[in-house]
Amino acid sequence: MPIYDFKCASCGHRFELFTTISRRSQAACPKCGGPVERVYEGKWSMGIKPTGGSGGCACGGSCAGCAGCGK
Ligand SMILES: [Zn+2]
Repeated sequence: MPIYDFKCASCGHRFELFTTISRRSQAACPKCGGPVERVYEGKWSMGIKPTGGSGGCACGGSCAGCAGCGK
């Protein structure tokens, strides 16, 4: 299941959700329940995946959220 980054349009709270494309439109801020918008960030995207199984990552190891770097 993909991870999506969201940012609350109301209070600015940032969070990640494991969700599906069909469900993400129903996402709401866990803090205030406000509307959220998708955040596109370089640390993770549909087109860039960690290479290999030994922690390789396109970011070079500086990101904290992908499967390759996040521990
Ligand atoms: Zn909020």
